Amino acid sequence: MKFGGSSVESAAAIERVAEIVRQRAPGPVVVVVSAIGKTTNRLLELAREAANGQRQSALVKLDDLRAQHFDIADHFGATHLIDQPFAELAEIVRGLAVLGELTPRSLDAVASYGERLSSVIVAQALGARHADARDYLVTDERHTQAAPLYEATYSRLSELPKAEVTVMGGFIGATAAGVTSTLGRGGSDFTASIVGAGLKASEIQIWTDVDGMLTADPRVFSGGHRVKTISFAEAAELAYFGAKVLHPSTVLPAMEKGIPVSILNSRRPEVEGTRIVAHAVPCRNAVKSIACKTNITLVNIASTRMLMAHGFLRRIFEVFDRYETPVDMLATSEVSVSLTIDTVTHLPAIVREIEEIADVTVETAQAIVSLVGENIRHTPGVAARLFTALGPINVRMISQGASRMNLSLVVAESDLRKAVESLHAEFFRELDPEVFA
Ligand code: ASP
Ligand code: MG
Repeated sequence: MKFGGSSVESAAAIERVAEIVRQRAPGPVVVVVSAIGKTTNRLLELAREAANGQRQSALVKLDDLRAQHFDIADHFGATHLIDQPFAELAEIVRGLAVLGELTPRSLDAVASYGERLSSVIVAQALGARHADARDYLVTDERHTQAAPLYEATYSRLSELPKAEVTVMGGFIGATAAGVTSTLGRGGSDFTASIVGAGLKASEIQIWTDVDGMLTADPRVFSGGHRVKTISFAEAAELAYFGAKVLHPSTVLPAMEKGIPVSILNSRRPEVEGTRIVAHAVPCRNAVKSIACKTNITLVNIASTRMLMAHGFLRRIFEVFDRYETPVDMLATSEVSVSLTIDTVTHLPAIVREIEEIADVTVETAQAIVSLVGENIRHTPGVAARLFTALGPINVRMISQGASRMNLSLVVAESDLRKAVESLHAEFFRELDPEVFA
């Protein structure tokens, strides 16, 4: 059972967690927790300040964090457990200020305290056994973005002492040499999936602050319905295309072991949530959900030299590659290529280089809308319905993903709301009651 930052943000929230664990654990359980509230952001910020010479401001921020944590810990008689970590943190902050530098390794050291603190507090609150995730999650040395070493991790997990309830911090691990590392932002879901897979859990529950996955991105459209069940492949696709409920790599270890993952709301535990399963149950709707990504830049590259020539695309992509700029969507014709990017740091340099061989135009403030669903591949007429539903909205680009379970289009950000509304009305007019709530 994994609980995110907002599910442990206060003593009252942690009480709710305790209640949910009591009610909903089907047997012995490992509870994976994120850092309290926005702790990780605050830790990273104060570490940067310290290394930039703003020592005083960093220490004030640390005091705020300490006050917040002591407040919560006090409620559960756990303050004695967090004295030492806060003393260490203060030392690290002073050290960073003296050194005036911040390596990925020291960023991990600082960020790890979020989960180290939350996990001991929650363990105390639940009267549970505490396990230090760094003794179980073995990772490589790519600090701030470390990858788990599965064999070593699963072998360590098999030695996890048996207990009715064990609490462990998410997001953090350690290298084989024992140096603290982190799995990347939002990594607690990933931890839950790795631990669940390693322990061959019957189920992985991700407790968050929404009712589960919805038929449309709630930030854009509020009339969405809950998706009761979705396949691993669809969930990964949705996460990749902007759904915020789940970290994309989260599903991998669980998928490999065929363990179902449920997304549940810790504020409304009675709602059945979304269950992610290996194979989608049959569904009468072609589309399961509409995901959106804003702040997209569309790059159009045209050249008659492309006509009948080879090697042109390679030359273009070589430029994007050299500037480490990922390309998301792509469409080509005989004489032009359109593509989207969401990192524009190096765009001016990229454009300058490509302009030597082609005409380039750039359009900012675009959005990607993705229809996701395994049925898209064998339902004829989806594209026709899509264009009819969109009516006068200008579609800048369209592409059917290689996985064939997503159909993505680019529209201007100013058309996004209308586009999602229209598509939702078209594809979710009738709902298969087995799949949607
Ligand atoms: N606390 C970490 C973060 O904020 C990990 C997580 O919440 O999943 O990124
Ligand atoms: Mg979080």
